[in-house]
Amino acid sequence: MSDCLFCRMVAGEIPADVVHQTDRVIAFRDINPQAPTHVLVIPKEHHRNLGALATADAGLLSEVVLAARDVARQEGLVDDGGVEPGYRVVTNTGPQAGQSVDHLHLHVLGGRGLGWPPG
Ligand code: IMP
Repeated sequence: MSDCLFCRMVAGEIPADVVHQTDRVIAFRDINPQAPTHVLVIPKEHHRNLGALATADAGLLSEVVLAARDVARQEGLVDDGGVEPGYRVVTNTGPQAGQSVDHLHLHVLGGRGLGWPPG
């Protein structure tokens, strides 16, 4: 059994509030949301972080990014008619950046004004 939390969610061993998925990517709501929309988008295959996935499989990285866009669209954060509320995609790499799960995940955040720079 994998000791990676997100691999266990992909395997169905731990419940996930799934909002979107493809053959190779899955998106689920963050358990501790920081905004009205806070969804995590991950490759089903284990990759430690953004750089590791970009090195191993750029095609899969592209699928993860497109899934983030699809989630934002589904959440009403992108209006293809022109008015865009907007959203933010963030990924933390390493402890100083706050990465707490070592399986690449894009945070898709939106539904409120988001400050810059982030903390
Ligand atoms: P990180 O800190 O950038 O690595 O993000 C990890 C995210 O996973 C955090 O925002 C957590 O709230 C989230 N998280 C941890 N456990 C679960 C879970 O069981 N379900 C959904 N999200 C989780």
